[in-house]
Amino acid sequence: MAKRKRIAIGGISTECSTYSPLFQTAADFEKVQGSLLVDLVDFPFEKYEIDVHPLSYLKSIPGGPVEAGFYAKTKGEFMEQIKDACPLDGVLLLMHGAMYVPGIEDPEGDWISAVRGVVGKHCIISVCFDLHGNVSDKIIRNIDVFAAYRTAPHIDVKKTYYRAAKHLAASVNGGRRPEVVWSPIPVLVSGEMSSTCIEPCKSIYAQLESFDRRKGILDANLMIGYVWADTGTAIASAVVTCTDQQAGVQTCTEIAETYWQKRNELSFDMRTGDLKAALDWLPNEFSILADSGDNPTAGGVGDRADVLEALIKDEIEGVLVAGITAPGIISKLQGTNKTTVTVGGKLGGGGPGLTLNAENICFKNECAVVKLHGITTVLTERRRPFHNLSDFADLGIDLKDYRLLVVKSGYLSPELQSLSAPSFMVLTDGAVCQHFDRLENKHRQRPIFPFQNPVQLFP
Ligand SMILES: [Zn+2]
Repeated sequence: MAKRKRIAIGGISTECSTYSPLFQTAADFEKVQGSLLVDLVDFPFEKYEIDVHPLSYLKSIPGGPVEAGFYAKTKGEFMEQIKDACPLDGVLLLMHGAMYVPGIEDPEGDWISAVRGVVGKHCIISVCFDLHGNVSDKIIRNIDVFAAYRTAPHIDVKKTYYRAAKHLAASVNGGRRPEVVWSPIPVLVSGEMSSTCIEPCKSIYAQLESFDRRKGILDANLMIGYVWADTGTAIASAVVTCTDQQAGVQTCTEIAETYWQKRNELSFDMRTGDLKAALDWLPNEFSILADSGDNPTAGGVGDRADVLEALIKDEIEGVLVAGITAPGIISKLQGTNKTTVTVGGKLGGGGPGLTLNAENICFKNECAVVKLHGITTVLTERRRPFHNLSDFADLGIDLKDYRLLVVKSGYLSPELQSLSAPSFMVLTDGAVCQHFDRLENKHRQRPIFPFQNPVQLFP
């Protein structure tokens, strides 16, 4: 009987705005281990007679840089885990691709090459990336399989795990060893400008599946990259897993050229403008404002009160603001139903600090729901999004009671989109500001569209 193959699963996934003052450490990361990690990947390895060794998978809500000491410690622990699991025929790494650690130019490359160093050159390394991740030569040199999300907003995470696991399973069971080729594309825009719900990305991404069926191609990907990283690795790219290098390079070039040619068509997937324009636009029916510059799920701090300030000034009624991060708010408010609070910039995210009377105070799920100048505001202990309808229901909030919902978000999450409400993305300041001309640009490669306008893509 053939010997059963052994693979390990693990990784680290976060997205780091280099413009955020807020460092990520242990408290920001959730650790998925054991059977939970196997369930997360949800691939029938048993059918392939493969034994799975779950290591640990660390993930966080996007944020600021990862603290260097925490990164070093975590990486060291992970490499010990993987060493203990050796010998391994394969490794499945769940990554994001936009991690930033001060002093380390390419953290994913650093992590993946360290894994390669432990498992040796014969082990198949398969990686999953977020399409907002950045890729480098160091990453590509050390992997055998690459698969990234093909939807933004991301609704194909499980499918991506499946693709990466499927290629890994086939390869460790004696299939031809794949390789990965890539082509950087000198374009770097936000996820909001490259949503797969609208053109041009809708068509480009729709094509990828058909590329997978080409002879010699296993998995075709377009990486948008992460725009709020002022680093040398931030760039879009085409990345193709293949068993025929020539076919891989050709498909890679095709994807890269298509994206490049469509660069001038990249635009926001919803109505946008500054705060004044947003308030002038407000319809009478229920609508949604997305405070995009402070969106925690893109790396924003989530503590800014710019929009709240403007709503108060304009005396807009029927508003729910969900939410603003204000650590320590619950202990401050406990035991009272009316008091004065200061809101805004509590984590260093900038913007105004507003001193306001808080009334009708109630608590739930590490949140305080308060009325500030007539505006219902959810003040949260921790940085978090309000992207799911259950986030509101869990706090006893009925959206029908409001005329306007303000969330810290870029493009709307699928659940908020499902409300079919008129919506407006406010181009606010913050760590993930959508005005690229306002972003410091010291370390990115040059030229990159739209920071500069490169004349030609391929020599
Ligand atoms: Zn993403």
